Amino acid sequence: MAGRLLILYTGGTIGMKQTDRGLAPASDLTTDILQMPELGPAFHGDPPVIETLSYDPLLDSSDMTPGHWCRMADDIARHYDDHDGFVVLHGTDTLAYTSSALGFFLHRSGKPVVVTGAQLPFGSPRSDARNNLISSLQVAASLPGSMAQVCVVFGSRILQGNRSTKVSAQAYDAFDSPRFPHIGSIGIDIEYNSSPAFESVRPAPAREGLREDLGKSILENNAPPPDDAVALVRLFPGFSAATLRAICSGENLRGIVLEAYGAGNGPSRDRSFLDAVRSAVDQGIVVVVVSQPLDGVVRMSSYAAGNALADAGAISGRDLTTEAALTKLYYLIAQGCDAREIRERMVVALAGEIG
Ligand code: ASP
Repeated sequence: MAGRLLILYTGGTIGMKQTDRGLAPASDLTTDILQMPELGPAFHGDPPVIETLSYDPLLDSSDMTPGHWCRMADDIARHYDDHDGFVVLHGTDTLAYTSSALGFFLHRSGKPVVVTGAQLPFGSPRSDARNNLISSLQVAASLPGSMAQVCVVFGSRILQGNRSTKVSAQAYDAFDSPRFPHIGSIGIDIEYNSSPAFESVRPAPAREGLREDLGKSILENNAPPPDDAVALVRLFPGFSAATLRAICSGENLRGIVLEAYGAGNGPSRDRSFLDAVRSAVDQGIVVVVVSQPLDGVVRMSSYAAGNALADAGAISGRDLTTEAALTKLYYLIAQGCDAREIRERMVVALAGEIG
């Protein structure tokens, strides 16, 4: 089972300690990890070489920004040739955004990138930290080549990174992919599922391409796009067109994820709302409609209320999660795509994120 794995420790509950203001990231987790007595037996006496990269500052993931996604992707790209797999330790609050973003930035990767965290800190009684960590290392070392991709390992589940969402702040199975089959499960054994759905996630062999995408276009030659290039708007009864117009007045805004009702419906009798969507689109802002229900799929032609949004120029995000829609918009903007290219690419799978 030997091989080389790199752990990126970015922060999160997994390594937090209690302070007088509540849990906050602490720096000594990587030492604890390397000394875990379970490591030998977990790899039948032949553990991989594990290296660690600790972020400074360590973050509660509520403080993550798109710039951090770029940094993580770039760190993995820079260490890509020297390692067989990667484990990202991350807070759970925005973990699904990061796993989605990494799925796009690293879509050419043919190596496993596992994102994990914990509901309780490493040192707490009944913590899930050790289990999640060891399972993640095992998955990073054993994910079949045909499935090598960015995934989330948490509790008993192995999920595709850009299909995942946080579903519980209490349970050890904190993540799920309600719109997509699980990649595998963790019980006494680690089992991988075989599903034709996974065939849309192809590990591309172009490792140089990976470097090119990241090193050059994101961090070396170009600054990442500003954080406010993308926005998320959730509809609710009484949502005001003025709110949408105010959001669209941001000069950096290039894309909006619109969380609509059910099959992608919005208020079709509110002319001012539909006009606000139309003027956003005319202004070159890409409006992507996703569904609010956890297990929702957008089919805008099902209802007149959905057709009205389509007529106003919004595009269907079909079964994209909110996290995948937002991070894909950001990724495409980072790639220098214009509005037409973004509209075209949003509806075509780049890394198995959309059906
Ligand atoms: N607030 C923490 C974080 O996201 C929660 C966690 O890790 O579970 O960093």
